[in-house]
Amino acid sequence: MKYKPKEIIEFSDTTLMVIWEDGHESLYLYDDLRQDCPCATCRQLRKNSEDGKLPIKKTIPLKLKSEKIKPIEIEPIGLYAYKFHWNDKHDTGIYTFEFLRNLCACDECASNSE
Ligand SMILES: [Zn+2]
Ligand SMILES: [Zn+2]
Repeated sequence: MKYKPKEIIEFSDTTLMVIWEDGHESLYLYDDLRQDCPCATCRQLRKNSEDGKLPIKKTIPLKLKSEKIKPIEIEPIGLYAYKFHWNDKHDTGIYTFEFLRNLCACDECASNSE
């Protein structure tokens, strides 16, 4: 396993922070993570939509106290991935560490991935 998160932190209401074992820090917008859900259903939905984006439900039950897309639970899957349970009730996406690391949008990673 090349990349492994050391810590996963709820950075803000909209952002998740992952601190990697190599000391690298990544920030992810929940919106982006949800859009990038790697499960088969979302892949198909993205393919079928005109703008390549997921048609995410805008109405979210009030008891969740958030209109924003947010994980209600981040469940570790073995030693290689996290399963995100989103507040739009979607929970089939398995985000591997490798996949998460590749999503990092910081300048350093952006310039490495050419
Ligand atoms: Zn999905
Ligand atoms: Zn990065």
